[in-house]
Amino acid sequence: MSADLPIETDTRALLDRMGVDPALYTGGNMVSFSPVTGTQIASLPEDTPLTTGAAMGRAAQAFAAWRMVPAPRRGELVRLMGEELRAAKDDLGRLVSIEAGKSPSEGAGEVQEMIDICDFAVGLSRQLYGLTIATERPGHRMMETWHPLGVVGIITAFNFPVAPWAWNSTLALVCGDPVVWKPSEKTPLTALACNAILARAIARFGDAPEGLSQVLIGGPEVGAALVDDPRAALISATGSTAMGRIVGPRVAARFGRSILELGGNNAGIVCPSADLDMALRAVAFGAMGTAGQRCTTMRRLFVHDDIYDAFVPGLVKAYGSVSVGNPLTTNALVGPLVDESAWSGMQSALAEARAAGGTIHGGERVDVTGPQSFYARPALVEMPAQTGPVFRETFAPILYVMRYSDLDDAIAQHNDVGGGLSSSIFTRDLQDMETFLSASGSDCGIANVNIGTSGAEIGGAFGGEKETGGGRESGSDAWKSYMRRATNTINYSKDLPLAQGVTFDIS
Ligand code: NAD
Repeated sequence: MSADLPIETDTRALLDRMGVDPALYTGGNMVSFSPVTGTQIASLPEDTPLTTGAAMGRAAQAFAAWRMVPAPRRGELVRLMGEELRAAKDDLGRLVSIEAGKSPSEGAGEVQEMIDICDFAVGLSRQLYGLTIATERPGHRMMETWHPLGVVGIITAFNFPVAPWAWNSTLALVCGDPVVWKPSEKTPLTALACNAILARAIARFGDAPEGLSQVLIGGPEVGAALVDDPRAALISATGSTAMGRIVGPRVAARFGRSILELGGNNAGIVCPSADLDMALRAVAFGAMGTAGQRCTTMRRLFVHDDIYDAFVPGLVKAYGSVSVGNPLTTNALVGPLVDESAWSGMQSALAEARAAGGTIHGGERVDVTGPQSFYARPALVEMPAQTGPVFRETFAPILYVMRYSDLDDAIAQHNDVGGGLSSSIFTRDLQDMETFLSASGSDCGIANVNIGTSGAEIGGAFGGEKETGGGRESGSDAWKSYMRRATNTINYSKDLPLAQGVTFDIS
């Protein structure tokens, strides 16, 4: 184990083992820091609009070849990718901890999610089904065919540096689409590692076209060049709602397709009938896990009046005792915030909450590795009402807790925010549960019962409504976004009957 190595040495050893060329992360202008220590771990050469255009040219050429490879054969590449990921799981998981500050368990969990979606995509490669549809014309057959779409541009956020790329790239690859990935400028090394791992699979696969999977290094400008390139048939962008407000219209302006996976302001409701011990553990993980830096982090909690005094003091106690520490050398449950701006965003939200009458438990800075890193004790804030900062996503471990007495009112408040990603109800009452899941219940893309808002599995479609962007990726039928649908009508008769009984007799 490399727990006592300096973090730069540890990082370099991991990158070497995963096959990343040192020229890709040394001697460049883009400095990369680890939130664990706040120190520099790499300096990467950046892409430019020119190199982005060249990458898109290679990807477009790859598309012409890859779309003709039978889908189950394309699935074989993803099967090999799953094997390579299994072999590299420990190294990549640790690199996720170094770059994103996740606990070892959560770093490994993110890689496991990549392995899971590989397995899903391999099966999918034999299940890209179209329908056969009844036609009104005799001697005709109507069906739909799904074809590869084109180059998929992937933009990702720092907090899930690897899994969303895998959700997109595995599906894109089996669907016949090359991928060009612009990872977060805060987590470029894990992207280079993923591409090197996929390159090993490609080498074993044998005859994949060059340019099938590429990585672009840089910030929003490089992302914008990708977004504006007409050769990117689909842009799948994960990040803040502010980013989506720019990216969505730009892709739409050129009639491109987009999947937007944006911010959330996720909430839970604890009903009087809830198993309070289970609810407490679920809320603790949902709100404090990944130091509150998940898109699905629980940020608001509505607790029924009848159980508020039995439930909330236990939660306050859990907030006071949760371990905050270095994810590389301890098994602490809460690691660092990504950077200083996350810390100052957390402090200004807490100041606003205090001014609005909130009672704050926790939220103070914890010195773990010195002044360059930013560790915080998660904050639980008892609010008199849903007001001020409660309405927005602050990407830090703050949970706003509010009382409610009527479930319909709690659901109305639950839905009265911009984000529409994830939601939970804790109850053993069938009526409460079904109300929450009904058309007049939670308006989120994910609605859970007796589990928290975070920790989704890959089998379901992932994404949310409203300011979360409306995109869906990962499981279920999300693959359809990566393909184009053609409706085919075939006349095998000797006549030419027109639809809707129209006549057009030219003889
Ligand atoms: P961010 O919006 O700052 O950056 C995300 C990515 O978008 C980065 O790669 C960035 O370089 C790129 N980008 C920014 N502006 C761009 C532009 N104008 N054109 C093209 N690309 C641009 O987000 P972040 O701080 O890295 O991540 C945190 C945010 O992401 C939170 O709001 C979180 O909720 C959200 N998120 C959502 C999901 C989801 O699936 N819904 C998953 C993870 C994170």
